[in-house]
Amino acid sequence: MALLRVNDLAVGYRRGVDVLSEVSLVVRRGELTALVGRNGSGKTTLMRAVLGLLPARRGRMEFAGGARPRVGYVPQADRSEMRFPVSALEVVLMGLTPGLGALARAGASGHAAALASLDRLHVADLASQRFSALSGGQRQRVLLARALVHEPELLALDEPVRGLDLPSAASLVQLLVREARERNVAVLVATHTLDLVANHADSVALFREGRCAFGPAREMFTDAVLSEHHDAPVMVREVEGQRVVLPGRPKC
Ligand code: ADP
Repeated sequence: MALLRVNDLAVGYRRGVDVLSEVSLVVRRGELTALVGRNGSGKTTLMRAVLGLLPARRGRMEFAGGARPRVGYVPQADRSEMRFPVSALEVVLMGLTPGLGALARAGASGHAAALASLDRLHVADLASQRFSALSGGQRQRVLLARALVHEPELLALDEPVRGLDLPSAASLVQLLVREARERNVAVLVATHTLDLVANHADSVALFREGRCAFGPAREMFTDAVLSEHHDAPVMVREVEGQRVVLPGRPKC
């Protein structure tokens, strides 16, 4: 079921310069929608528009029910919590008191919700540990717990597995897929990790030069579409039941 329909959207920062235009896509509940494209192609800009941080210049964004849904956001490599001696639990509590940061006081129910969110991601045992002392994979789970503590309908993540080792990345992706499938959350992921997209995304938006091509993952992640998108040969192959994306031999 569609949670968000984007139609012919144009957005930008500087007056008169559209970073994205004619963007149309659908974000569905219970599915993983991937935003793919080179650095600077506009993935984060679209994410900002979806989060309501950037107004539409043209076109429309229509949310089911007419109102913006509850949103959980995991920003790209968020290091802001690293500067303060906060615990994992306190980082999750910030999700309940946005704007007030670590100084806010959450009640007993807030504590219980934060612990439950950590538990859901199998890191409740880290609750009292200092956030900055955790591994990259543990930190991502805590930030995911913070985004999920509000029971969002839309979960938006910018490069969630960047910098993680292979097992940590794989288990984080499993958790995202579980949130989508079991809790009917619409998961929107901007990522360069094409294998993640090839194996788990339901829909893909390919960004290039301010435009976006959108469709079902099985139609977008083909040799032909990816090669055209990258202006270079790209192959999608199956190995041991998993899809891998490989660079083809460039024509010399
Ligand atoms: P991506 O997430 O795909 O790397 P972005 O959405 O961050 O791409 O950037 C798309 C374009 O918008 C780039 O040309 C970038 O320079 C520009 N841009 C991003 N943020 C801002 C901003 N705050 N002000 C002006 N231009 C920006």
